[in-house]
Amino acid sequence: MLRVASANAMSLAKLRQLVGMGENETFNAHHEVALMGLVGLTAELRSNLLPHGARHGVGNVACYGHHFRIRAMLRTRRPQVCLACVRDAAYCEAHWDLSLSVLCLRHRCLLQDKCPSCGASLRWARPSVEWSHCKHYLGRDVGVQEIPAQITIAQQITHDLFYGKEPDFGFLGMACPGISLDAWLSLLWALGAMDAAFVSPRRGALIAAPSAADACGMVLRAVTRIQRCQESGKGLHDLRNEVVEAPLLGTILNPVGRRDRALAMGWYAAIFGEREAEALALRHREIAQMSLF
Ligand SMILES: [Zn+2]
Ligand SMILES: [Zn+2]
Repeated sequence: MLRVASANAMSLAKLRQLVGMGENETFNAHHEVALMGLVGLTAELRSNLLPHGARHGVGNVACYGHHFRIRAMLRTRRPQVCLACVRDAAYCEAHWDLSLSVLCLRHRCLLQDKCPSCGASLRWARPSVEWSHCKHYLGRDVGVQEIPAQITIAQQITHDLFYGKEPDFGFLGMACPGISLDAWLSLLWALGAMDAAFVSPRRGALIAAPSAADACGMVLRAVTRIQRCQESGKGLHDLRNEVVEAPLLGTILNPVGRRDRALAMGWYAAIFGEREAEALALRHREIAQMSLF
């Protein structure tokens, strides 16, 4: 909504009024229909632009032409921005809405989910793209930031998958042909969620979108761990005490891309061992069937 308001040079409050939203009401299906009618978007375009329940039984939420297993993959709650993009052009980039998108490749700066003036968490409901609800201007000259190479590598892959290009996994010593954006983000989540070996992530860390700073830490840890395995030559098995199983299991049991299940099974077997992978297949018939092909 913020985007539409901004593109049409009106305040968010005015747009909310136009689609019939009350003061403290959250956006629902009725408002969505009103909004689409207002700006003349077709149903097909709508399904690309707004998060919505996925059809055809693939994934649980779809947005920007991608399917996601869980809502936490999208920042439906914690918007983030590139302060330099906001300063230069007062627009939003679609990839900012991904929970594990952490870097603006154009300005080479980290995305921010807090007001740079007062530290308040940014909200979707704010006067415009460049003005925060706390009445501070968000645009900034961010200067030169030291960005770890691991962050840049991960962001480039996320970017390419998001915009439909073939990513280069060579930097990670991996080949992931046909991987979906969801499976890639799930891998980052699985490998990055734990601060250290045997340290379980906080409650809720797997079901809610992380803060921008936490997301950055996750991506950095995930890529650093993959590179560590690559350099030691020990393979992903070395990570068995530092990996959260749930995102991998989710990808195996509820894949959104055709190649996801096989890829995730490969990672699972590499990390936890062939035995564990076979046991998993025995517990879930749909995986056992896969091995027939
Ligand atoms: Zn930027
Ligand atoms: Zn502020």
